[in-house]
Amino acid sequence: MANTKSNRRTFAIISHPDAGKTTLTEKLLLQGGAIHLAGEVKARGQARRARSDWMKIEQQRGISVTSSVMTFEKKFPDLNGGETITFNLLDTPGHEDFSEDTYRTLTAVDSAIMVIDAAKGIEPQTRKLFEVCRLRSVPIITFVNKVDREGRSIFEVLDEVADALALDVSPQSAPLGMGGLFKGILDFSDDTVAVPEGDSKEYLGKREPLGELPDDLAEEIELARIGYPEFDLEAYRHGDLTPVFFGSALKNFGVEELITAIAEWAPPPRPQPAGEEQVSPDRDEVTGFIFKVQANMDPNHRDRIAFMRQVSGTFKRGMKLTPSGLGKPIAIHSPILFFAQDREIADTAEAGDIIGIPNHGTLRVGDTLSEKNDLRFTGLPNFAPEILRRVILKDPTKTKQLRKALDDLSEEGVIQVFYPEIGAQWIVGVVGQLQLDVLVSRLEAEYKVGAHLEASPFATARWLKGTEAALKNFEDFNRSNLARDRDGDLVFMAKSPWDVNYQVEKNPELTFSATKER
Ligand code: GDP
Repeated sequence: MANTKSNRRTFAIISHPDAGKTTLTEKLLLQGGAIHLAGEVKARGQARRARSDWMKIEQQRGISVTSSVMTFEKKFPDLNGGETITFNLLDTPGHEDFSEDTYRTLTAVDSAIMVIDAAKGIEPQTRKLFEVCRLRSVPIITFVNKVDREGRSIFEVLDEVADALALDVSPQSAPLGMGGLFKGILDFSDDTVAVPEGDSKEYLGKREPLGELPDDLAEEIELARIGYPEFDLEAYRHGDLTPVFFGSALKNFGVEELITAIAEWAPPPRPQPAGEEQVSPDRDEVTGFIFKVQANMDPNHRDRIAFMRQVSGTFKRGMKLTPSGLGKPIAIHSPILFFAQDREIADTAEAGDIIGIPNHGTLRVGDTLSEKNDLRFTGLPNFAPEILRRVILKDPTKTKQLRKALDDLSEEGVIQVFYPEIGAQWIVGVVGQLQLDVLVSRLEAEYKVGAHLEASPFATARWLKGTEAALKNFEDFNRSNLARDRDGDLVFMAKSPWDVNYQVEKNPELTFSATKER
């Protein structure tokens, strides 16, 4: 199924904050010979213009709310006689609060690297992100980081990954000691040891043949080698097995092996479902979908960049594509490709690439773009909000502005908005607390709408589907628990999970969906 000819590898790194994602990203970019600029998308020629308040939140908290895209290339002499692989690394925000951005970014990748802190093992956010990957059978390569420090035994880490995530693990390397005893990383594929050098004890490219080991270490290594399943490409690509590399992003250990593994094993662009159909990356027609919209680098301008994951065809600058939400074609004159050094104007792009499309709000998350307007990609979910809040206006005359702002921001995927059938208090839903801070600060900065948020009586929401008669019937009895979303679709607002279960049982003719597929 996969397009084996493609040299694109589009992937993300999933991890818990502090596991080392940023450090690893830098090292991967250095491997690719790219000079790293911290991962934020800058508007061309306007790099230094004012930042909006939500970016201030990022700075204050020292976190990245925005996902960015980094592209780099590397030549592999041993791969198909010297192939150059183009890597598209999609950054996912690493804060413990989730935004839907994070989830949606994972709909745009073909594989992921899971970074685990050797001392901490699987942490909550790693697990959450892993579950999202599993939903789509996204293959995962595991990187156990920070072995230059004291950590858990390699067996403890391997077994935890296997048990907690119900995955087969296949170690590809092992540290020779950890912390103060760390003597390098043994590569199982060729029995060489990558050794620390100099005062910094970094890996600078020196490899030695494996020598004599102390008995206990020799035994440990032997067990790691034979005690786990062998690598199986098929099982990995199905998301049933994860190859595991040990290393230290900080000291550059394991990074080379990791990037080679992505080049050799990670899947090239895969077909994307569009209803019944699977759209192959080999299809001639250019198609893609919007997985993220980033707006208002400058609060005074309504310019946005929509991030399109290209699914098929060869894109050329100036090409006309039709967004599914608009129905008429738009010419894409200044698309953006994301090279690590800076943004560059794209002349061409291939399946698997990410293109930034500047626009004024015409493009929405979940939109399909195509040359012929003959298909719609499916499987790009809105996630059920876990936090629901009422929006209270400070100035009640600003209702119209608020409505516009909430519609805009829900289009962008910052929040979900629910307009109750009864009552005038609008409700916003988010997956993580941080999104609420972003919402309030952007309402103020960009829409001049002062608002605060209050508890709502609802705990979660479910999108309803069913025949018109069944929906009408449900509506008649439950009006006070019903709302419409941005698109006018009917949503059941539940006071508790129990509430959901009760209604699901009572209304077998309806489906209660935790996600909304656009
Ligand atoms: P992120 O939050 O996942 O992006 O993590 P960072 O890359 O910012 O790393 C968090 C902290 O761990 C920083 O202080 C890093 O210097 C440190 N760190 C990252 N990788 C390693 C490593 O391999 N060994 C050690 N000892 N520290 C590391």
